Amino acid sequence: MTLVETLRAAVGAANALTDGDLSAFEVDWRKRYRGRALAVVRPASTAEVAAVVTACAAHGAAIVAQGGNTGLVGASIPDASGTQVLLNLARMNRVRAIDAENLTMTVDAGCVLQTVQEAAAAQGLLFALSLAAEGSCTIGGNLATNAGGTGMLRYGNARELCLGLEVVTAAGAVWGGLSGLRKDNTGYDLRDLFIGSEGTLGIITGATLKLHPQPAAVTTALAAVTTLEAAVDLLQLARARLGAGLTGFEVMNRHALALVRSHMPQLAQPLPPSDWTVLLEQSDSESELHARALFEALLETALERGLIGDAAVASSLEQSKTMWHLREAIPMAQALAGANIKHDIALPVSTVARFVERTDALVLRAFPGVRLVDFGHLGDGNLHYNVQAPDGVDAAVFVRDREAAVNAIVYDSVDAFGGSISAEHGIGALMRDELAVRKSPVALQLMRAIKRALDPNDLLNPGRVL
Ligand code: FAD
Ligand code: ZN
Repeated sequence: MTLVETLRAAVGAANALTDGDLSAFEVDWRKRYRGRALAVVRPASTAEVAAVVTACAAHGAAIVAQGGNTGLVGASIPDASGTQVLLNLARMNRVRAIDAENLTMTVDAGCVLQTVQEAAAAQGLLFALSLAAEGSCTIGGNLATNAGGTGMLRYGNARELCLGLEVVTAAGAVWGGLSGLRKDNTGYDLRDLFIGSEGTLGIITGATLKLHPQPAAVTTALAAVTTLEAAVDLLQLARARLGAGLTGFEVMNRHALALVRSHMPQLAQPLPPSDWTVLLEQSDSESELHARALFEALLETALERGLIGDAAVASSLEQSKTMWHLREAIPMAQALAGANIKHDIALPVSTVARFVERTDALVLRAFPGVRLVDFGHLGDGNLHYNVQAPDGVDAAVFVRDREAAVNAIVYDSVDAFGGSISAEHGIGALMRDELAVRKSPVALQLMRAIKRALDPNDLLNPGRVL
């Protein structure tokens, strides 16, 4: 039997696609990478995934795992060779179990993040991972990229929200590590090895996730600040006043909100334009009234100290959603504005303001007129530091001709400030060469040794990460 015939036998002919329009599986979210698969395979169970991987291993065919295909580093689509098998996990979408007393739930890897949040909420519980792509990204993809998102400040990233995994290895064996234990020091942590491995070490088929009690109220506020330094001071103040109640602290610069204003004019912007706008979210275990009072007192102090200008506290869930919508619309507004050069960087919070001041100056000196679209999770020291072509310059041409030089300036600056060139999006294809020159040689050597041990024939997402 040919490989395609074996795959058809494993998952059914209707779920091993070889022709028709497969662009939804073969083009990445940013439309930066286009590949061609030997077949798009859509298994419905862990056993089917194991059968697919076993067949691919026998034929020496590479496998690219895919969840919602919302990844931003070009790692979830096949390459252009037409020889790789695209393994899409969307049909594996069962919530397997919820253990309310243990505050855990076990799900298939193809479950959409929003579905998982809703299943937890239906039991009065919270699954705290949240990001703008939550309507289409999957738990498997979230874990494979160790996604961060907007609740990271309080609840941690995908890694911290995962207690156990089920993984199909490169040889087609199933590792059943779906434990709901908080403590387990029985040797090397295999779970943590697979989390963040971007489909290069194993195929995640299931996960046991950590839940939290639902807060009594979640409220949001916006505040205008003139400098990023003031935003960091506001963060310190909010941490001191709200403690663990502070669940989100996002910033958006003038250009970011201007893009939303021009491409999505239907979205209300509660505050007038300002150099920086901060979005604060508070989760309160008492009541909405209590939360709002805390916010108002906090903002009053911030105003007295000259940290903020205009501010608005959401007076309803609807208004909270509108505020979040503004923040979450920025990537889409950027996409509508055309190609741009993205950087997903992490820095110590204490140096973010100096980093931006210095890097802005360097980028603007080299490329006068570019628009710096900065936004992100300031509470985590994570900025999406994006560079858009100057007004009137063709965006695609700008990215093609200037990306390498812009990246060199930005990443040299990140290195100088002790930061990371990938905070939450991963390495994939986009950042691979950058990683090879910026990560320490010893770290790279250890990573290659792990890859060789777990995937000796380089069949899982080859050419990505390493
Ligand atoms: P995919 O894009 O399908 O895959 C991503 C990677 O994971 C690939 O390397 C793929 O091979 C691998 N993979 C997928 N499923 C599996 C599996 N079951 N087993 C093994 N490997 C697998 N990311 C953040 O961290 N924080 C954000 O705030 C954030 N915001 C975003 C906003 C928008 C509008 C968009 C489009 C993306 C955003 N992202 C963000 C990036 C992206 O959504 C996340 O990385 C997400 O976790 C990817 O999930 P996915 O199911 O779409 O994975
Ligand atoms: Zn982000």
